[in-house]
Amino acid sequence: MDYDMLVIGSGPSGRRAAVQSAKLGKSVLVVDRGRRLGGVSVHTGTIPSKTLRETVLNLSGWRERGFYGRGYRVKQDISIGDLVERLHKTLDHEVEVLQHQFMRNTVKSARAAVKFLTPNKASLTADNGDYSEVGFANALIAVGTRPHRPADVPFDKKRVFDSDEMLELHHLPRTLTVIGAGVIGVEYATIFSALDVPVTLVEPRNTILDFIDREIVDDFIHQMRDRGMTIRLGSTVKEIASKPDHAEVTLADGRTIRSEMVLYAAGRTGNVASLGLDLVGIEADARGRIKVDPNTFQTSVPNIYASGDVIGFPSLASTSMEQGRVAACHAFGVNLPPPPESFPYGIYAVPEISTVGLSEEQVRDSGAAYEVGLARFRETSRGHIMGVSSGFLKLLFSVETRRLLGAHIVGEGATELIHIGQAVINLGGTVDFFVNNTFNYPTLAEAYKIAGLDAWNRMGHG
Ligand SMILES: Cc1cc2nc3c(=O)[nH]c(=O)nc-3n(C[C@H](O)[C@H](O)[C@H](O)COP(=O)(O)OP(=O)(O)OC[C@H]3O[C@@H](n4cnc5c(N)ncnc54)[C@H](O)[C@@H]3O)c2cc1C
Repeated sequence: MDYDMLVIGSGPSGRRAAVQSAKLGKSVLVVDRGRRLGGVSVHTGTIPSKTLRETVLNLSGWRERGFYGRGYRVKQDISIGDLVERLHKTLDHEVEVLQHQFMRNTVKSARAAVKFLTPNKASLTADNGDYSEVGFANALIAVGTRPHRPADVPFDKKRVFDSDEMLELHHLPRTLTVIGAGVIGVEYATIFSALDVPVTLVEPRNTILDFIDREIVDDFIHQMRDRGMTIRLGSTVKEIASKPDHAEVTLADGRTIRSEMVLYAAGRTGNVASLGLDLVGIEADARGRIKVDPNTFQTSVPNIYASGDVIGFPSLASTSMEQGRVAACHAFGVNLPPPPESFPYGIYAVPEISTVGLSEEQVRDSGAAYEVGLARFRETSRGHIMGVSSGFLKLLFSVETRRLLGAHIVGEGATELIHIGQAVINLGGTVDFFVNNTFNYPTLAEAYKIAGLDAWNRMGHG
């Protein structure tokens, strides 16, 4: 065997699996067909969209508008150049750190497209046609996904874009239509809206973000509408046309939406087409997703693992990393305890949403008696200082066990604050934790104390 572990794809999952394997003393080769290491996460997904968001919030003065009014701006004329400058610096830094990490851990890397030949052998084909074969004891498929591009959508990088292409804009759109109100759609829609670009968000279903607590989503939709975004739920798209000076979206009910640009963000497909899965007997579904054992991440071929977006929900960089690490540990006989049931979900829209544990709908469906504790950020001193006028934290507690069942946040800092809720849920903590502990003051985290007290006062005092 040439390598103990062949990792296909250098995104979050492949990266963690590679480093973990190396730390266990194993020989590792990471192969990615992309121009640079890092995967979707570094080049077209997580890091670019979050960098764009940060730049937009800083340059637009978004966080200060609670004090200085909606007309406030830090920089008057924000150009695409302003946004891209920070993007390139951040991405370069990410790649540099990753390369250094591989070097330190003696993880080898190569640029090529990988195709399985047998369960222990694969071919590597470089862009220039160079061909080689590599033998491996174990392999991890961490090839991720690409935007779903239906044949009848006229993607042209001028009027109609997918989410990868949004990073190649020549100028900021004067008006934007976003099709698909999934996580990627709402993130980009709200980021551009924070730049005062008029945005229309179109979604065929009548609800959005169905895996999130309804009260949080309702507040989020209210905030989007309140700042002038148009949200068309229950609207199926019949046709998208790219015209010389605008794009036109025709809905099934006959209405049309004109805008300078359209972002089509309706789903993603696994990169499995050229992997030679049929040659080793691994199947993928119609969306290119591979089925794995949920505890070990083994595919139907025991020495070939799959993790990250190519195995489907939750399709997050954060969960992909963990899956890669767990797969590597399993491959080399390291027994891990079962993972905690609850992991946090972060949506970096403007405002942020983050959630962990059960939603109120799920608790209600379970039939268990529960109590809700709520704290609005505008009622915290930190919120006053920051000029925060919206956002809240919602906690759900079991009346019987007093344990925290779910924590849900919409508003400033949600994706950081959620980890307090995550720790309490996964450590089996109760409402009494929030009531008995002192929190730094003034902080937004104090909202946990307030929400805890809110529930405690109604639950009885244990
Ligand atoms: C716009 C956007 C925003 C996002 N925001 C967030 C966020 O805020 N937080 C979060 O947790 N997640 C976010 N995600 C999701 C996150 O990016 C993915 O969950 C994560 O990148 C998946 O990692 P992965 O390990 O599956 O590999 P990926 O990052 O998908 O990388 C896969 C790599 O495999 C390579 N590859 C594919 N086929 C082959 C082949 N045959 N041979 C060799 N190499 C191959 C590709 O070139 C690619 O580099 C976002 C995604 C998008 C698109």
